[in-house]
Amino acid sequence: MNFDRIYLDNAATTPLRAEVAETMHAAGAQADYNPSSMHAEGRRARAVLDAARERLAALLGAARNEILFTSSGTEANNLALLGVARAGPRGAHVLAAASEHHSVLFVLDRLREEGFSTTVLPVGRDGCVDPSEFAAALRPETVLASVMYANNETGALGPVAELARIARARGVLLHSDAVQTPCWLPLDVNQLGVDLLSLSAHKFGGPKGVGLLYVRRGVPLASLLYGGGQEFGRRAGTPNVCAIAGMARALELAGVEREAKARAVGALRDRLEANISAAIPDVRINRAESRLPNISNVSFAGVESAALLVALDLAGVAVSAGSACTSGSLEPSHVLAALGLERRWLTGAVRFSLGTTS
Ligand code: PLP
Repeated sequence: MNFDRIYLDNAATTPLRAEVAETMHAAGAQADYNPSSMHAEGRRARAVLDAARERLAALLGAARNEILFTSSGTEANNLALLGVARAGPRGAHVLAAASEHHSVLFVLDRLREEGFSTTVLPVGRDGCVDPSEFAAALRPETVLASVMYANNETGALGPVAELARIARARGVLLHSDAVQTPCWLPLDVNQLGVDLLSLSAHKFGGPKGVGLLYVRRGVPLASLLYGGGQEFGRRAGTPNVCAIAGMARALELAGVEREAKARAVGALRDRLEANISAAIPDVRINRAESRLPNISNVSFAGVESAALLVALDLAGVAVSAGSACTSGSLEPSHVLAALGLERRWLTGAVRFSLGTTS
C-alpha cells in the first residue's frame, strides 16, 4: 500500500484484496484449464468453477443455475435488459430510472432502435425513484423494469424491495444493478424480491473483468453471445475460472465484514462531510435520505470538477467527478442532472468514495 496517497475512488474500482489474489493463485496453480474439457485437468477446472458458483449462489440466496458469469457489470446489465426484452414479444416496453449507469441507459437506446418502447423514469431531488410514480409508469406491455440498488455517483439507495413487490403484482420483471453494494448492504435476492441482479467483482475487492448476473428460475433470457453452450446455454464463452474463484472469495469476505465496515466507514464519511462543510463556503452535499455509507458527492460552487480532481491528485488524493466513465469530460453528470440541481452545483461536483480499508 502507498501511504503517500489517499485513495478515495473505490466506486470506480477497489484494489484486489490479498486474500483474493491468494485464492486466484491457488485456483490457477491447480485448475487453469478449460472446464468444458472431459480430461482430468478440465474436470479440476470444472470442480473449481462449480464450487465458486455454489458459494456465490449461497451467499446471494440463489440456486446454482440462477448464476451466470459475465465479463463485467456492464455485460451483466446489457444481458439483463437485452436478454429479457429480446426473449419477449416484439414492441414490448422496458423502463429504467434516469439515474441508472450508462450500461443500462444506453441499452434503452438500442432497444428503441430494435422497435421496443422504453421509459426513462425521472428520480426525485434525492436521486430516488418514487414507488407511486414507478407503479404509474408500468404498462400492460411492460416486460422489465431496471432500478439500481445503489447509485454509483451519489450512493442513493433505490427502494428495490418495494418496487419488486409492485412489479411482481403487475407481472413485470425487476432487474437491479447492485454493483456498488456488496461491501455495504445485505444482498439476498429473495429478500429483495428481484428477478435479475448484476454484480461486478472489482467493486468489492475482486479482480477486474468478471461479473455475474443472477437470473431467477423461469425468467426467459436470450443470449447475447453465440458459440458454446456455457452458462446453461445463456452466455457462450470459456469462463475465467481463476477470476470467478476470486470473485466468490471476495463476496464471502465482503459478507463477513459488511456490518462493521459499514459502521466504521459511515462515521468517516460523516466526518469528511462535516469538515468540508465547516471549512468551505458554498458547498452542497448531494445526499439522499438512504444512501451507501462510503460515497460522498459534494458540489463546490464556482469551480470546475476537473480542476479540483487535478489539484487533489497533486495533493495525493485520488477522487473522481461523477462516474469514472464520464471523468475527463466537462459534461455534467447525468445523475446529478437528473436530480434537477441548479447549474452552479453541476460543474464542480466531486465524488469521494471510501473503501473498506479507508
Ligand atoms: N453499474 C454500476 C452502478 C457501476 O458503478 C459500474 C462501474 O462503474 C458498472 C455498472 C459497470 O461495471 P464494470 O466496470 O464491471 O463494467
